[in-house]
Amino acid sequence: MKLPDCWSCGYNFKWREVIFFISGRKKCPNCFNKQYTTTKSVRKMSLWGLPFSPLPWILTSFLSWVWTWGILLIVFVIYLALMPFQAEFTHEQEPLF
Ligand SMILES: [Zn+2]
Repeated sequence: MKLPDCWSCGYNFKWREVIFFISGRKKCPNCFNKQYTTTKSVRKMSLWGLPFSPLPWILTSFLSWVWTWGILLIVFVIYLALMPFQAEFTHEQEPLF
């Protein structure tokens, strides 16, 4: 697992710099170029989320809602924490499809 690099100067982003970012708004702190996420990395990030989508239904069938929400929250935090490792940046907005 590797954190993304700047497409322009190769600056290696820190985890806290990419934990919350919006494609096209993110700027490199080194060369100030805008960073757009690649279509490939966006797809990869959504694929990571897919296995978790039926989780609420599975959990509520044998757990109470309080537990379900607690577990979902933890899973979501772990998911967010891992997302920066899936991100890749490029110099222009790529079409998603
Ligand atoms: Zn840069």
